[in-house]
Amino acid sequence: MQNTARQGFHDMSLPYEEVTDGQFAIDAASSFRFIAASGRRRGDIEGPCPRCAGHMVESLIAGGYRGAERGHAPAPDRDSESDETLVCLCDADHPGRPADRPRGCGAYWNLKIIRERPA
Ligand SMILES: [Zn+2]
Ligand SMILES: [Zn+2]
Repeated sequence: MQNTARQGFHDMSLPYEEVTDGQFAIDAASSFRFIAASGRRRGDIEGPCPRCAGHMVESLIAGGYRGAERGHAPAPDRDSESDETLVCLCDADHPGRPADRPRGCGAYWNLKIIRERPA
């Protein structure tokens, strides 16, 4: 997988397991980046899965992304915030993955998505 080299080793031998960990959200908040789609108020976020390190991209409904703040109350001056549950969408065939799960290693975590006011 050439596209994951910059982020380190993609551990494709990890068995599929539906797990989460507080550290997943913290790692993803610092390593994922938001990609604004031009001309539309939406975009994608991309980064390495915090469990297997496989590269993944997830579409978001609206622009504005800050990161994860687990257990933190939304700031009152924000338009809206929501916790989005992300699941690993890497393209490796992790051992033991159920047939109805086409992608990923099973890891999931929350990111706090902030929708900013239009300028
Ligand atoms: Zn993964
Ligand atoms: Zn993976």
